[in-house]
Amino acid sequence: MIRIMIIGAGPAGIACAHTLAGAGEPSLVIEKQDSPGGLCRTINFGGYFFDIGGHRFLSKSDEINSLWQRVMNGQMLLVKRLSRIYYKKLFFNYPLSFFNTFGNLGPSESFLCIASYLKCKLFKPGNDSTFEGYIINRFGKRLYDIFFKTYTEKVWATPCKDISANWARQRLCGLSLRVALEKALVKKKRNLPKTLSGEFLYPKRGPGEFYSRLEKLALSGGARFEYDKFIRGIEHDGERVRSVEVLNCRENRKDQMPVDYLFSSMALPVLIESLRPLPPGNVIAAARKLRFRNFLVVNLILNRQDLFPDQWLYIHSPQVRLGRIQNYKNWSPDMVSDSKKTTLGLEYFCGQDDFLWKMNDIDLIHYAVRELQAIGIEAQKYLINGFVVRCPMVYPIYSLDYQKNLGVIKAYLSRFSNLKTMGRAGLFRYDNSDHALLTGIYAARNFLGQGLHDIWAVNTDPVYLEA
Ligand SMILES: Cc1cc2nc3c(=O)[nH]c(=O)nc-3n(C[C@H](O)[C@H](O)[C@H](O)COP(=O)(O)OP(=O)(O)OC[C@H]3O[C@@H](n4cnc5c(N)ncnc54)[C@H](O)[C@@H]3O)c2cc1C
Repeated sequence: MIRIMIIGAGPAGIACAHTLAGAGEPSLVIEKQDSPGGLCRTINFGGYFFDIGGHRFLSKSDEINSLWQRVMNGQMLLVKRLSRIYYKKLFFNYPLSFFNTFGNLGPSESFLCIASYLKCKLFKPGNDSTFEGYIINRFGKRLYDIFFKTYTEKVWATPCKDISANWARQRLCGLSLRVALEKALVKKKRNLPKTLSGEFLYPKRGPGEFYSRLEKLALSGGARFEYDKFIRGIEHDGERVRSVEVLNCRENRKDQMPVDYLFSSMALPVLIESLRPLPPGNVIAAARKLRFRNFLVVNLILNRQDLFPDQWLYIHSPQVRLGRIQNYKNWSPDMVSDSKKTTLGLEYFCGQDDFLWKMNDIDLIHYAVRELQAIGIEAQKYLINGFVVRCPMVYPIYSLDYQKNLGVIKAYLSRFSNLKTMGRAGLFRYDNSDHALLTGIYAARNFLGQGLHDIWAVNTDPVYLEA
């Protein structure tokens, strides 16, 4: 019998194992990938280090900040953020700032944008409960079309009128055209919403460095980590989980392992459909309505020294599917083994049936290189090597009814005394890694009797989130 099993060695799973180990409770962590860190793992590709997207270490939680510092022994870079919107071959500050935006747009487009804003201010045409309406009421229709619609629909592939205003609130955190103007004019005189942190911490060789260290600490406290193993089924008696079915991917073997207590950071709908016997029909139906967007990143090594100074660019140009470009040596010079080369991560947001998701890796690399060319970045003749990383179920889609469906699932799961879900996909929440770490820590503390934390309440305050 395994006393405590944890599904997933991402931030939530490792933090849970580490907290338990600190209290003398060994656990077994089962992870389907071959290394720790989940979405925050770093891939070493021939001496070049690739983050999955880019992971800023930035948190409002004192506890997480001190955990990062303690585990990294203070050895992190303080990076000055530069990330802009690339639109019609122009670079716009992000989040939008008044003078830069209108300076770039030019007098006639600026006039049209301001007229559209004033019209929307007067008539409030937007439905404030949707993403589209919320933004139009605060920026006007024209600025919405240029700076919010294209990119948001690239990420979510859902019309903005069908996306909940919760997402707009999290993205803007109080920003509007009026606030941007006040910020530009009165700067520090008033306490205006903080939409962007100018700097963040980053391990020299990417976030995976932190998670490898945290894993080591958990190991020294008695935790065990098993990789290339996949949880396929969870047997229960209606009140308690009894055992799990583990698929050993290397040996193509499956084992039924009795467990006493199970923490899970696997995606919530998958957890629901892994339960044996299956939950009632209404719970399954609710789980099937919780949908995610997949994410893939085409990583390239280019024989070019300097491309652009940003850590990442948002690509708003509607003629390409490309959503964001990471430039890893601008995160940390140690991410490249040769400073004369540049490594890029070209990010795409996809559905399961999307032609991009189904495309083979070689074709994807060529496709991505062509898209770089299309937006004016010469890459074809400088390409040295490339590879693709695919991440399924990464962006929880905040559809208009997601909270209702989540409520059905939460109510159902509350009957299990020894099954706790945590983490980003596990809670179906658009969490950053600090939130995911906290959910793992709190889940472990609840088990240890060190407090009564509401895991579902982590990251429900309006904080600034980016996609
Ligand atoms: C492109 C991108 C950029 C981001 N940027 C930032 C940022 O700048 N700063 C920040 O703080 N956060 C950022 N995040 C968010 C951060 O990556 C997540 O919040 C964090 O990784 C969530 O941790 P987790 O443990 O909940 O989930 P994951 O990291 O997804 O870990 C879950 C683990 O469980 C494993 N697993 C799942 N199902 C099974 C199964 N059945 N059997 C075995 N193992 C299983 C998975 O393989 C995975 O390793 C970003 C995310 C993305 C996608």
